[in-house]
Amino acid sequence: MVVGLTGGIGSGKTTVLNLFKELGVPVFIADVEAKKLMNGSTEIKKRIVALLGQEAYVDGILNRPYIASKVFKDRLLLSKLNAIVHPQVHKALNSFAETHTHHNYVLYESAILFENKNEHLCDKVIVVTAPLEVRIQRVVKRDQVKESEVLLRMEHQWSQEKKVEKADFIIENDDDAGLQKKVIAIHKKITS
Ligand code: ATP
Repeated sequence: MVVGLTGGIGSGKTTVLNLFKELGVPVFIADVEAKKLMNGSTEIKKRIVALLGQEAYVDGILNRPYIASKVFKDRLLLSKLNAIVHPQVHKALNSFAETHTHHNYVLYESAILFENKNEHLCDKVIVVTAPLEVRIQRVVKRDQVKESEVLLRMEHQWSQEKKVEKADFIIENDDDAGLQKKVIAIHKKITS
């Protein structure tokens, strides 16, 4: 079973993910896997260079600022890049789930799970939420960026309300001390 874990920027996905990890749940982080594939797969590298040019890699390592500067102002280019990377990430998720069948479920973390229409990869989806102002202040503090920068990043994501509508489980991460209890309660529901 694959359980998706998503939520907007600053909601606390990584924090929640770590609590599930402590319970022994195997975790698959979409971003990390995508980076691994973009840096490690010769086939993917070839296709990215064909799409974005030689500058996409410097000394064989992904040139992230260059790629971001190209794709974030060009939706078509972004969807072409996604079409190269996403199917491979999905394959990696499938084999990750297959190698962990002795566990009740694996957790698949993706900030833009719904935006990328990836809920079909999941049996259940958990959405982590927090009040908007709390999320903004967390990211300002964590990344040492301005509020306006956080708001800009948020524009690329669905609203929290829209995500909640599609959730099987919701974890309210509003700075209370009961986060671990909430995670344990959902873990029990999933495994019972
Ligand atoms: P992003 O989408 O940007 O990766 P995220 O949803 O993974 O964000 P986290 O990195 O888990 O969010 O949390 C953002 C920041 O808020 C971190 O610095 C984290 O330590 C802090 N934080 C998260 N949850 C709590 C909490 N319940 N209490 C206090 N701080 C928290």
